[in-house]
Amino acid sequence: MQTKTNLLGLSRTGLDAFFQSIGEKKFRTKQLMQWVYQRQVVDFDAMTDLSVQLREKLKTTASLAMPIVVHKEFSTDGTRKFVLELDSGNRVEAVFIPEGQRGTLCISTQVGCALDCKFCSTGKQGFFSDLTSAEIVSQVWIAAQSFGVPENIGHKPVTNIVLMGMGEPLLNFGPCIEAIHVMLDDFAYSISKRRLTLSTSGIAPKIRELADHVDVALALSLHAPNDELHDEIVPINKKYPIQEVLDACREYLSRFSARKRVIIEYVLLDGVNDKFEHAHQLVKLLQDFPCKINLIPFNPFPHAPYKRPNGQRIQKFKDVLAQAGFVTTVRTTRGEDIDAACGQLVGQVADKTRRSQDWQAAVWKKMQPSV
Ligand code: SAH
Ligand code: SF4
Repeated sequence: MQTKTNLLGLSRTGLDAFFQSIGEKKFRTKQLMQWVYQRQVVDFDAMTDLSVQLREKLKTTASLAMPIVVHKEFSTDGTRKFVLELDSGNRVEAVFIPEGQRGTLCISTQVGCALDCKFCSTGKQGFFSDLTSAEIVSQVWIAAQSFGVPENIGHKPVTNIVLMGMGEPLLNFGPCIEAIHVMLDDFAYSISKRRLTLSTSGIAPKIRELADHVDVALALSLHAPNDELHDEIVPINKKYPIQEVLDACREYLSRFSARKRVIIEYVLLDGVNDKFEHAHQLVKLLQDFPCKINLIPFNPFPHAPYKRPNGQRIQKFKDVLAQAGFVTTVRTTRGEDIDAACGQLVGQVADKTRRSQDWQAAVWKKMQPSV
């Protein structure tokens, strides 16, 4: 039997090639993308401006397949969490966070992560697999779908997308680029390139390469002001030390005249990287680096080796940066009643869905501190 091509997550170029391969004109790309992403329709039979003959052809040659939503939770503060099960049985999460007119969707790019940052529950679980472009884009489709069809609700619920869920996007490069193209496309979600942010732990060569493909906002995870401490918390720093990564970011910015700065994400770990001296070192390190700084108070998870600093420590750290002239924000935790905070994605659904128990057991085992 001929294997069907999954059209979900294919960029305009990919769809053009598909339609050509089945003897159809390129304008079908626009029609299909609008049905799938703007009207949220994934049933070929319902695509009424395609001829019956083409719909039949699509049914035999193509699919619009996405992961199953095995769990969803809506918080009292409007945050929505979706747990998706992939064909492999692995699970990932996406979280929607509303704030005034803005609706930010945080999506995953890998199942687990190989980089083992010491404060990250995804890292503690190890690496399971890369997501396909379809699996990445599906998270947007599923979140949007939870609000109904945009024409009916009168607005687009997802205005901003951040690649800040599970995984390191730059280590799943091709599928992430393909998915980003779909998210930015006017025929699809038409997310503004200022409102799509890719967060990386600092894979220097890939940051440079990114500029050859897409112009999106860049967030850099930098959790210590010196290599010695960063090596300890973020092991990939040994391969790509701080200065090399900052240089790669500068080069990225230089490729886009409208892109003025990078967002620095700094997770505050009590007594580890949140001291007065660290704040001053950070000021020195970043004095000529075009950035704004987002401080993220550590979100605890079971067996985590760190604690979240108290409000006073956080404020003191922030004040040093702000007084030195940095635009500095502190990320507030949202959706706490549904465990939707940073670094807490996946890990608590075992008692709610039976099928996940084996998988969950494996994860917990991996999360036990090694002796
Ligand atoms: N791999 C990428 C993107 C995913 S992590 C990266 O590291 O940037 C997204 C953000 O969540 C990163 O800034 C990371 O430092 C932060 N994060 C991970 N675990 C966290 C935790 N337990 N508490 C607070 N922030 C966390
Ligand atoms: Fe991976 Fe990012 Fe977590 Fe580090 S912080 S382990 S890079 S997901």
